[in-house]
Amino acid sequence: MPNVDITFLGTGAGMCVYRNHTAIVLDCPDGTRLLLDTASGNSVIRQAAAVGMLAQEFEQVLLTHHHGDHMGGLPYIQGQRSLTNPEGPPLRIYSSEEALEAVRMYCKATRLRVINVDQEGATTGNGHQVFQWHPTEAGQRVDLGATTWASSFPVDHISGSVGWRVEAGGVSIVFSGDTRLSTNLVEAAQGARLLIHEALSVESNLEDTNGRGHSVAAGAGRAAAQAGVQELVLTHIDSPFHLDPQPLIDDARRFFDGPISVASDLYQMTVAAG
Ligand SMILES: [Zn+2]
Ligand SMILES: [Zn+2]
Repeated sequence: MPNVDITFLGTGAGMCVYRNHTAIVLDCPDGTRLLLDTASGNSVIRQAAAVGMLAQEFEQVLLTHHHGDHMGGLPYIQGQRSLTNPEGPPLRIYSSEEALEAVRMYCKATRLRVINVDQEGATTGNGHQVFQWHPTEAGQRVDLGATTWASSFPVDHISGSVGWRVEAGGVSIVFSGDTRLSTNLVEAAQGARLLIHEALSVESNLEDTNGRGHSVAAGAGRAAAQAGVQELVLTHIDSPFHLDPQPLIDDARRFFDGPISVASDLYQMTVAAG
């Protein structure tokens, strides 16, 4: 049976003071390694190193949007890749064109080992390409490995935000990125083996949470039930739920009766087709 190994490098909401920002690794049955979002600063390469993953092993990034807590780690991943493997292939970044335009500006601003940034990618001083942009339309199939492919769908957060559905050797995994409860997500996640959904708070804080562009756990539970997924993992956790995430599980449980868990930093799980 093919398995996908999932490693949560960071599971904290943008303002969470206890957790690293969002980054998830998918190790797919055909050997493809995908990074979903990049956390911020150097936390992604520190967390990866803690579980024996090196930056040069990352070659493909599926980015959900251009908030700093999701794309801010990119220059540091690339800087480490350039140091350890200067002639290595470029890091391929897949996202909406709007998000990629913001990433280009961020790379120019930080200037970490990147000298030229254009519409194709980014190069170092000796002309070696280190980033390659792959603007992706919603619903467009992106082939990532022999039996691994993905497609994005627009979600309800900032303009240009997407979620991703990854198909890996018959295992389907959907990641919401940041979003309010999204009908596009429900449609895209139909029948998925696993839904990884953000959950900033609980339903009693719905108005405030939606006002910040996010979902409550009850919304994640609704999405999971409406999409008919087999399992739900909650992530993008805020400070009040760091030590005791049970209220998030209880909130989602009111709508979804399958397995529900809350990710934590360096949490690893294996998902088999089913
Ligand atoms: Zn976020
Ligand atoms: Zn965001």
